[in-house]
Amino acid sequence: MALDAETRQQLIETVRRFVAERLRPLEAKVSEEDRIPDEVLEEMKALGLFGLSIPIEYGGLDLSMEDECLVMMEMGRTSPAFRSAFGTNVGIGSQGLVMFGDEDQKARYLPKIATGETIISFALTEPEAGSDSAAVQTRAIRDGDHYVLNGTKRYITNAHRANLFTVMARSDPDKAGAAGVSAFLVERDLPGLSIGKPEKKMGQQGAHICDVIFDNVRVSAANRIGREGEGFKVAMQVLDRGRLHIAAICVGVAERLIADSVAYARERKQFGQPIAGFQLVQGMIADSKTEALAARALTLESARQRDAGENVTLEAAATKYFASEMVGRVADRAVQIFGGAGYVADHGIERFYRDVRIFRIYEGTSQIQQVVIARETMKRGG
Ligand SMILES: Cc1cc2nc3c(=O)[nH]c(=O)nc-3n(C[C@H](O)[C@H](O)[C@H](O)COP(=O)(O)OP(=O)(O)OC[C@H]3O[C@@H](n4cnc5c(N)ncnc54)[C@H](O)[C@@H]3O)c2cc1C
Repeated sequence: MALDAETRQQLIETVRRFVAERLRPLEAKVSEEDRIPDEVLEEMKALGLFGLSIPIEYGGLDLSMEDECLVMMEMGRTSPAFRSAFGTNVGIGSQGLVMFGDEDQKARYLPKIATGETIISFALTEPEAGSDSAAVQTRAIRDGDHYVLNGTKRYITNAHRANLFTVMARSDPDKAGAAGVSAFLVERDLPGLSIGKPEKKMGQQGAHICDVIFDNVRVSAANRIGREGEGFKVAMQVLDRGRLHIAAICVGVAERLIADSVAYARERKQFGQPIAGFQLVQGMIADSKTEALAARALTLESARQRDAGENVTLEAAATKYFASEMVGRVADRAVQIFGGAGYVADHGIERFYRDVRIFRIYEGTSQIQQVVIARETMKRGG
């Protein structure tokens, strides 16, 4: 649901202030300690960030995709690890349930997802099923009014804190590929479910990914989301939406890095003048600004198309592809504009350079976005 203009502006300004005054001062500490302080998570909950996309009747803010993207562009102006803390509740974790869940499932789980009391993760990737996500091997074998889950999910964001998982598993072993996959809501405390150690990552310290291991986990059939065999469709529709959310974060980070680059270029003097006066430095600023503006416009346009009920598989893939590649180039230029100071840790620029690398990999690599864009373009005939 779209907010009225005044409420939307208030929300955006509240998030902008929270980012500027509360989160930005903590960036280095969160990175060093690889942990977001509990009190910050509580403040995020109080602001309603965990429930941005959850329907109002279940306690969320029910933002339109466009409004969610505008909020994420503000969140992008600080370390993206902060966004990750609530990102799975807003996006990939919860949206299968929001789009395909039945009333009982929604009433049971969404209110606590909206407040952040429940953390929900999205578990699709496996050791042998990454880009080829329809190749999931985790089994969900029907046994009376339960399914028995066995298998391992890999690189699952927020798994260390999650008490609920949206899990894609093969319910029909005779069907290869997408057709045999179903989606399930799996509670953390079920016997047989365990979580691996957090992985050491290139960037976004403070955000964590772990394996999720299922060893004869009995999940009630009432916890299947959608129909049997519909799990891959659930995952793909969740990802269409998630790709717009990620693109918006990429835009926000790019805007932050451009602002930091401009401030530094004005202050840093070489050859007796601020480096901002050199046209070769200005060229880098101009290229970054142009690309960030294009990504902002594309993200908001694709979000509006989704809000209008259009199929945006192509647009979401193209938007995520462009925005994630764009922020990689912008971060690279930011390091260049800062020179040696961009390479050492003090200014945080090298940290952003590492943080943004993942945007070209998760929720579909850039190559997978290209595959989707080409397939959909050919389907549409141009
Ligand atoms: C920090 C982080 C967080 C993540 N969070 C989650 C999460 O919450 N939930 C979840 O389910 N998963 C998550 N993932 C997994 C992520 O989505 C996958 O890593 C990603 O989809 C790529 O899969 P892969 O790592 O197996 O790479 P691979 O699929 O092995 O790809 C390796 C390379 O081959 C290329 N490639 C593969 N197939 C093709 C093709 N057909 N055409 C051209 N090139 C191809 C890829 O583009 C890539 O360059 C996360 C990963 C990370 C690192």
